[in-house]
Parts: sequence; structure tokens; C-alpha cells
Amino acid sequence: MNDKVIVVGAGLIGTSTAYYLAKSGAHVTLIDAKDIASGTSGACDRAIMIQSKKPGPTLDLAIKSAEIYQDLEKELEVHLEYRKSGGMIIIETAEEMKAMEGMVERQQKAGIDVKLISGEEARVREPALSKNIIGSTWWENDAEVNPLKVSFAFANAARRLGAKVRLGAPVTRLLTENNRVTGVEVRGEMLYADAVVVAMGVWTPMLLKPLGVDVPIIPRLGQILVSERLPPFLHTGILSAAYIASKLNGDPDDETADPYGVGLAIGQTHSGSLLIGGSRQFVGYNNTETNPEVTRKIGETAVRTFPQLANVRIIRAFTGLRPYTPDGMPILGPVDGMDGIYIAAGHEGDGVALAPISGELMAQAVLGEEPEIDIQAFSMSRFKR
Ligand SMILES: Cc1cc2nc3c(=O)[nH]c(=O)nc-3n(C[C@H](O)[C@H](O)[C@H](O)COP(=O)(O)OP(=O)(O)OC[C@H]3O[C@@H](n4cnc5c(N)ncnc54)[C@H](O)[C@@H]3O)c2cc1C
Repeated sequence: MNDKVIVVGAGLIGTSTAYYLAKSGAHVTLIDAKDIASGTSGACDRAIMIQSKKPGPTLDLAIKSAEIYQDLEKELEVHLEYRKSGGMIIIETAEEMKAMEGMVERQQKAGIDVKLISGEEARVREPALSKNIIGSTWWENDAEVNPLKVSFAFANAARRLGAKVRLGAPVTRLLTENNRVTGVEVRGEMLYADAVVVAMGVWTPMLLKPLGVDVPIIPRLGQILVSERLPPFLHTGILSAAYIASKLNGDPDDETADPYGVGLAIGQTHSGSLLIGGSRQFVGYNNTETNPEVTRKIGETAVRTFPQLANVRIIRAFTGLRPYTPDGMPILGPVDGMDGIYIAAGHEGDGVALAPISGELMAQAVLGEEPEIDIQAFSMSRFKR
């Protein structure tokens, strides 16, 4: 059995994996080059949006993850700002309506009781919505949470169960012997383990590449605007149909696509600020500055959808790198031909929603237990086929 396990990366996925491993009795060391949630998990939005997931394996994961979230505050003994506020995907054009009718039908077939409602009904739920919105989806079970709090809560709960957490410790190399992992190197120091879970988000390929393993994760930049604090303005989590199209139609080689991939994602935090996104751009690892043109486009989209926002101040903007994979699904499971090495990464814009189930499934895989959902669909080997 893989009793001694190193988890590299203390974002949502690594901290969740460390927690479920520790809960199952493994001796865990969680390592991060910087700090907990210092990567994408500290530069993202807060939606646990289930209705936006592709029907199939990812939707199955999301449904299970949402179930875990309902009791997570109790389990981790921390207030996570979890709120089951419901979710809407708003529709502006007849073309979007057609696409959303198809999506709603597919989600209903997959067992999600999402409904299509009229523009008037949408404005009953969100009175500030513009008259230009011709319809919306609505699902009461979508939720939201504070991803920073989730990452810290998982890490602290893992610590309470005996896990060691090493921060400011960049892993420079995976150690192997006869195609089996023996540990990791952290700045010249060797740490030994029976298994290593690489949960480094967009940076995952860098650790695997020297072993000849090409992990097809690339960074997809997203930008978010933060408003001044407001009295309650929104009641639900809101995406636009254009946002869904940008998310699902991403192709880094498509030169005809909108270079900024702007669509609306908006919600209100517990402190009253609005988080207003978003964009999707393939601009590499180092081009992470906020872009004034993107800020303008996101602002215009927000004001077109919620005219009252014209009078609201934006106090800052930030960016994060989504770990994109070619088929939009995460990579969860062992690396073929490299005993003891596991990958838990590539969650693109779904890592908040999928964190609890990803960690639980990874712990089951590493400890040789029967996973509660078959993770074959998420294996690295699917990219060879
Ligand atoms: C703008 C934006 C909005 C988003 N909104 C949502 C949303 O509403 N809902 C949702 O479900 N998802 C959302 N996401 C997606 C979600 O944030 C990510 O899928 C998730 O955070 C990925 O988590 P992770 O743990 O895989 O990666 P990360 O959080 O990036 O963690 C990886 C960690 O690895 C560490 N690391 C890197 N290199 C090394 C090394 N050599 N040694 C040790 N450690 C290393 C890093 O420091 C980092 O802490 C959004 C993303 C963005 C960018």
C-alpha cells in the first residue's frame, strides 16, 4: 500500500487530496513552492456551478462534488461562505436561446432539473437585469463558496490529522528508480515517499516533462474586476450564454476566435463586492498583467446586462491562469509506466466546483481503494488514443 504520500501543490486540488489521504490514515506531506492557494486557487471566482458542466463524466463529478460541499463546513469545522444561491445562465439573443435550449435539454436528460425561464421571470429573480435579457436558465442547486477559505480549511484539517505542510518549498525534481517514484527533491533536499501526487495546476507539465511525460495542460488567462462594496445587489450566481460559448469552444490554435473570450460571470461576495468576469486567453505563463482593453470589454458587458452598474466603482482587477486541457476535462489518476506517480490537475474553470470530489477520488486511487466514481475517463492515457 502507498502509505507515505507526497502531494505537490497546495491549491484547491492538492489541499483536498492531502485532506482525504490524511483522513484515510496515510502519512502525508503537502508541499508548495509558495503558499496555500498562491496559484490559480487564490486568483479565481467562487462558483460551484453544476448546470454549466458538460454532460458526461465531468457533470457526474460535479454532481458528487456539490453533494460533498453541502456538509463540508461541518466536516472541516470552518465557515467557508458556502451559499446555495442557485444559478442562472442569461440569454441576450435568439441565437444564444437556440444554443441554450439544446444545452438545457441535454442537462435535463443527464438528470439536472434545470429550467429555461423567460426574461420577465429572470427579472423577478434578479430585478437589476436589463430589459434586453430575453431569457435565462435557472437551477436552484448551484452554489458558491470562498475558494481561499476552502484551500486553507482542507490544509488545516489535513494538518490536524497529522499531515506535514511545507510551504516556500519548490519541488525541483521527481525522484525515480526503475520506473518507480521514490520521492521528490526540494532545493537539493531529498524527501522519500511511496507515491507522489502532482497537483501543480498549470505548472504540472514542468515536473513531468523531464521524465518524458507530456502533460497537455496549458494556461488560459482569465481576468476579473472587483467592485466597491455594495448593499445586496445580486441573489444568485450568474453567467452569460456568451461565457459558456467561450468556455466550451476554446481552441488555442483558432486564430478566428475572439482573442479576449469575454463573457459575463458575476456574483457578490459576503463582503458586498461584486466579482465581475471574465475573459479567456491563451497568452502563456508570463503574460499575466491585467489588460485595460479586457477591463473595458468586461465593464461594457456588465453595464449592458445590469445598467445600474454604470454608477459603481471598480476598485481593482486581477488575473489567474486556468489549467486548460484539450477536452475540457481534468486529469486524475496514475501515470502509465511510472509506478507511484499520480496527476490531479487540469480543472480549467471548474476547479472550485470539483475540488472535494477530485481529492476524494485521488486518495482512493493512491490508496488502492475502489473509487466511488470510475476515473478511467480522466486518465492521462486518453490523450494517446
Ligand atoms: C479567473 C478565474 C475564475 C475562475 N472561476 C472559477 C469558478 O467560479 N468556479 C470554479 O469551479 N473554478 C473556477 N476557476 C478555476 C479554478 O480556480 C482552478 O481550476 C483551480 O484553482 C485549480 O486549482 P489547482 O489546485 O489545480 O491549481 P493551483 O491553485 O494553481 O495550485 C497549484 C499549486 O502548485 C504550486 N506549485 C507550482 N510549482 C510548484 C513546484 N515546483 N513545487 C511546489 N509547488 C508548486 C503553486 O504555487 C500552486 O499553489 C477560475 C479560474 C480563473 C483563473
